[in-house]
Formats: sequence, C-alpha cells, structure tokens
Amino acid sequence: MVKTRTDSRRSFLKGSAALAAAGVPTLAHAGEPGFVVDPAPRTTLGVVDSDSKFPVRRVYCLGRNYVAHAEEMGDDPDTAPPFFFMKPTDAVCAARDGFVYPSMSSRVGYEIELVIALRSGGRDIRREDSLTHIYGYGVGLDMTRRDLQDEAKQRRRPWEAGKSFDGSAPTGPIKPVSMTGHPDERRIWLSVNGEVRQDSNTAKLRWGIAETIATLSRYFALAPGDLIYSGTPAGVGLVEKGDVMRGGVDGVDEIEVDVL
Ligand code: MN
Repeated sequence: MVKTRTDSRRSFLKGSAALAAAGVPTLAHAGEPGFVVDPAPRTTLGVVDSDSKFPVRRVYCLGRNYVAHAEEMGDDPDTAPPFFFMKPTDAVCAARDGFVYPSMSSRVGYEIELVIALRSGGRDIRREDSLTHIYGYGVGLDMTRRDLQDEAKQRRRPWEAGKSFDGSAPTGPIKPVSMTGHPDERRIWLSVNGEVRQDSNTAKLRWGIAETIATLSRYFALAPGDLIYSGTPAGVGLVEKGDVMRGGVDGVDEIEVDVL
C-alpha cells in the first residue's frame, strides 16, 4: 500500500502519544509534515541587483593565506602552507544586521576576507577549470574568539569554539562575476571606527582564487552554494561592543558591520 501523507501524520501522532504516555515531554509540531521537528531554515545571502538569493551550502575558510598574516600569527610561511577549516552554514549572517559580540570570550577579533561563491563544483577540479565554477564574489568577516582559538592551539584542540560560533561570518550580498570580474589584484582593507587596520591586496593571496578551488576540491567534493572565505591579510586585532567595522575589496563590495 502506498503510504499517504495522512498515514504519516497518523503514525506521527501515535508516536507522540506513546512518548507522552511514557512521560517524555513533547511539543506540538506545527511545521512541515514528514519531520519530527521543524527543519532548519535555509541560510541565504542576497544577490546584488537580483530578487533571487544565494543559498549557502558549506562554508570553507582558509587559514594563513597571506604571508604577512601568517608571520604575524607566528608561522614560518616557508614551511607552513595555508590550510582549510570550516564554519557551520548558519554562522553566515547578513553584514547589515551587525555582529553580536559572542559569549564565552573577552578577546574577539576581526578578519576581513574576499568570499568566493560557487555555482557548481566537483572533485579534483583542474586549476585551469576552477574559475568556471564561480557564481560571484562577496566580502565577509571571519570573526574569531581569539582567546579560545589561542587556547585551542596551545592545547592542540579543534578550533570550533574559536571560529565556528553563531553569527561568526557577517557577509555582504554576493555579486555575480559578470559585475566583478575575478578580483585577483584588488585592494582589500578593513577599518575600525574609521581607523584603517588591514590594508593589502588580493594579489598577495598565497593560494590565489583558482588554486584555492583546485586545492580544496582535492579534499572535499565542492557543490553549488559553497562559500570559500579566502583568508585575511595582516593587521588583525580586536573589537569591542559599539565598534563599527568597515571593510571591502575594491570592485566587489564594501560592508559596514556594527558590533552589538
Ligand atoms: Mn580567516
């Protein structure tokens, strides 16, 4: 017999009743049929000059992808190549909504980054094919609980508490590549309360845009909706509640993010 939606609903109700009888608290679930709890809302970013949205799938980040930043973090760039880490999809939020100063930290840092947004993907993408997978670009922040990241480094523990917290990636809208070109030689900068703190050029990316995609695709299968935060230049520092961060990549976007 083909199972209908009504049958599913009936068995769900039966399940709830059984849980209630067993003394397990249940909540009325008014959402989509077929799910025992509400499915998570999809994370999206706006698209410049469009009513459509960019649906975010995975969020990859590069560490130490500018030499001067690798050095300020105590790396020897000759022996330590850039590397990848991830944030959860819903760490991405609209830059215009601000950055909520997170709990459990008293040293919270900014990192301005060029964000690559993929329209397609695959495994083992050839460097010469990499750029065809790009939908567009944006400007985003890789906000960091620096104290927790430092502690994790010291104890050789994972970085999630330092890097992957809620709202840790305030990001502007995505601009299609037809509007930006490939921004491989553009000023990238960030100011706090009007004072410039980071000022570099995407020409200094150690793994450039094409190489980043090719390299990442050897580790993970890339897909439409993936975002890649390409790393931050030197000059990282801390923010406090009430600060205003402004940052941009010439020809891509400029964002203003209030620390709330
Ligand atoms: Mn970063």
